Amino acid sequence: MKIKCPKCDKIAELGDDFSYVKCSNCSLDVSYGEYVKLIAYKDARYTDILGDYAKDTSGTTSGTLDDW
Ligand SMILES: [Zn+2]
Repeated sequence: MKIKCPKCDKIAELGDDFSYVKCSNCSLDVSYGEYVKLIAYKDARYTDILGDYAKDTSGTTSGTLDDW
């Protein structure tokens, strides 16, 4: 199965039994569990960016969930 590589955003290959994720572009070679962690890590970074953005506009770090 073709999936998006979490490292280089090119096309990576997910094993049919979800046992591995490999990317020939950046030599990524991890288990599916590791892949999920990488995705979560990336999402966390995006969340941080959004959080910083919110801080710039609202000037507060608390109660941001209510603003969504
Ligand atoms: Zn890659």
